[in-house]
Amino acid sequence: MVAQVIDGKAFAARVRAQVADQVARLKEENGIIPGLAVVLVGEDPASQVYVRSKGKQTVEVGMNSYEHKLDADTSEEDLLTLIDKLNKDPAVHGILVQLPLPKHLNEDLVINSIDPAKDVDGFHISNVGLLGTGQKSMVPCTPLGCLMMLRDYHGSLSGMNAVVIGRSNIVGKPMAQLLLGDSCTVTIAHSRTKDLPDVVRRADIVVAAVGRLEMVPGDWIKEGATVIDVGINRIERDGKNKLVGDVDYASAVERAGAITPVPGGVGPMTIACLLANTLTACCRANGLPEPEGLTA
Ligand code: NAD
Repeated sequence: MVAQVIDGKAFAARVRAQVADQVARLKEENGIIPGLAVVLVGEDPASQVYVRSKGKQTVEVGMNSYEHKLDADTSEEDLLTLIDKLNKDPAVHGILVQLPLPKHLNEDLVINSIDPAKDVDGFHISNVGLLGTGQKSMVPCTPLGCLMMLRDYHGSLSGMNAVVIGRSNIVGKPMAQLLLGDSCTVTIAHSRTKDLPDVVRRADIVVAAVGRLEMVPGDWIKEGATVIDVGINRIERDGKNKLVGDVDYASAVERAGAITPVPGGVGPMTIACLLANTLTACCRANGLPEPEGLTA
């Protein structure tokens, strides 16, 4: 069996077009323009690239983008003051503080100071609790993108055996909650899981979110399973810099029913879902119906 490749780049373009369409309608019918504020502290090169990309795509879908670049030695007090200002600003519907923060800043404290209704990353403790109890929340972008692709491919996920490899707060745990919400039977595997190959072989859906180069070989994959590869590993191969996933694509593509490539799978969906979350936050803030198909 050769897997169908789930094209995250094309899917993300469709999501962005859907967002742009609804943003245009909001502007025309209600005179509202969704706004996303991104806060970057310091000069981490990868974070700078992400922030630039987020700002560009925000503007491309017709939203307002507000970038706040702060020095690496910014005090916690100054950062919290800025977040408080953004929380109170009616033109800002989404706030994202780019992680990681410099070591002297308490990430949990900073994230939990964002108004949960504007927490478009879905990392605020209130949103974590709402998601965990099956209530309306802001959902973390990467798992939301994975869920959208799975729903699009399968329709219903009900009753499927899903294994999520990785238990981080930003990917593994919310991914497991979302799959549970869609009535999968969910196993969360991690670094201490015994006989991981056997656990993975029983899964109809495998989500790999570890950050270990090609650690899931094709022979762990059940014939016909759907494989979502969240991992991003930067390597040099054949004299070139490459991005490679947590799944050994060459062998997995021979066994899976469907698979996301790296790059071009989960990655592009993450920013598309950030835009979708900003639109959702804007609709909720204005008491308008939520955009269809763009939330969990
Ligand atoms: P993390 O380091 O916070 O968590 C990794 C998890 O993997 C941990 O829970 C750990 O228990 C588990 N793990 C480690 N070794 C393992 C092993 N040998 N077997 C099984 N599990 C093991 O990482 P994260 O932030 O969740 O990110 C995971 C990967 O996803 C990284 O490569 C990251 O770059 C990528 N990522 C991609 C996107 C995207 O937009 N595509 C977004 C976020 C993260």
